[in-house]
Amino acid sequence: MYLLVPRQISEIKQLLSGKTKVVLTTHSNPDGDAIGSSMAMLRYLQKKGLEVTAIVPNHYPGFLAWMPGVEQMLVYERDAKACQRALGEAQLVFCLDYNALSRVGIMTEILKRSEAPRILIDHHIEPQLDEFTYSFTTTDTSSTAELVYDFMVMMGDTVMVDREISECLYAGIVTDTGSFSFAANNEKTYRITAELINNGLDPQKIHRLIYDTFSENRLRLLGHAICNRMQVWDDLHTALIYFDRKDLQDFDYQVGDAEGVVNFPLSMEKINLSVMLTERDKKIRISFRSKGDFSVNDLARKHFEGGGHKNAAGGNFYDTIPNTIKAVKQILSAYKNELNFKMDYR
Ligand code: MN
Repeated sequence: MYLLVPRQISEIKQLLSGKTKVVLTTHSNPDGDAIGSSMAMLRYLQKKGLEVTAIVPNHYPGFLAWMPGVEQMLVYERDAKACQRALGEAQLVFCLDYNALSRVGIMTEILKRSEAPRILIDHHIEPQLDEFTYSFTTTDTSSTAELVYDFMVMMGDTVMVDREISECLYAGIVTDTGSFSFAANNEKTYRITAELINNGLDPQKIHRLIYDTFSENRLRLLGHAICNRMQVWDDLHTALIYFDRKDLQDFDYQVGDAEGVVNFPLSMEKINLSVMLTERDKKIRISFRSKGDFSVNDLARKHFEGGGHKNAAGGNFYDTIPNTIKAVKQILSAYKNELNFKMDYR
């Protein structure tokens, strides 16, 4: 846990006064917490009178398109020049919901070149502290959105948290906790949520906007995944789902359509690890979810050039789908004992 000490807080307050040019960055394949944290921060800093640009490396899922501010966001993949210009002129950079500069993918080099101080706000394990000027990071929280709220409080700006900011922050909390089903054992998460409701947030409305806006194809893709694309390896207490290029075409895949699919296999009592493979341009994107103490962060770091949290992580593999499945099974066979446990729910 790395909190900001009073001296750092007053330095940051200085940086946030006047007309400072600020750039907000977040990780590749941005999720609800990445976009929610960015949009909350965008509105907050704009209200403070700063010149703010929010950048994402690649496109965000459609179920986040309702969020206030997203229309101002620059997508690096689509508009590299404008993003480079903003980063070149930046006097301060926020790094939201990621723990190492490599997590911004195609933006990494250009971000490294910027000499502006970087403020990290994040909840992933093992942050690369040497890459940031200021680090506000802990794993003992539901989401980066929760820490962004803490940050606004630290800046003495609690009263600036309006309905729109509350909606963005809530989107981060609700998606990173699977609607308060994991990483939500901390009473503080609920106290902050209560504050957000107090500021005009309608939780049911946000829930509907995020979860009740599927296309028919997206729901059918989920059915297809579980019916036709799921392998269950009993001896490893593991289930694996894969989507190849043709699946994605057949169901007219849109960014975010596979979001959450990886969580379903864990609803089987016997399954402790869920793996999802998605065929991308030149690689296989892998998502991991686990129960209990089995760390998919360690697994992803060690074998799949990735990482994340103890029970939710991602990585990449550079081969075909069938070969990746073989490799995953091979790698997991070394974890057979660690994967053999029964959750005690009593
Ligand atoms: Mn997060």
